[in-house]
Amino acid sequence: MFADSNEVQRRQMLCAYCPLMIETFGIRRCKVCGCPIQSKTRLENEHCPVGKW
Ligand code: SF4
Repeated sequence: MFADSNEVQRRQMLCAYCPLMIETFGIRRCKVCGCPIQSKTRLENEHCPVGKW
C-alpha cells in the first residue's frame, strides 16, 4: 500500500537533505539500500535503512 501524501512529502524532504542520497543519470537513490527514492518513499511499509523515517 501507499503512504499518505503528507508522509511521502516528509520522507522525500528527509532524503533530499540526506548525505546518503545519490543521483545518477537523473535518478535519486539511497546509497545504503540502493532503492530509488521516488518509489521507496511512496510505499507504506518501506523504511529508511538508517532510521531517519
Ligand atoms: S532512505 Fe534514509 S539513508 Fe537513504 S537517502 Fe533517504 S534518508 Fe538517507
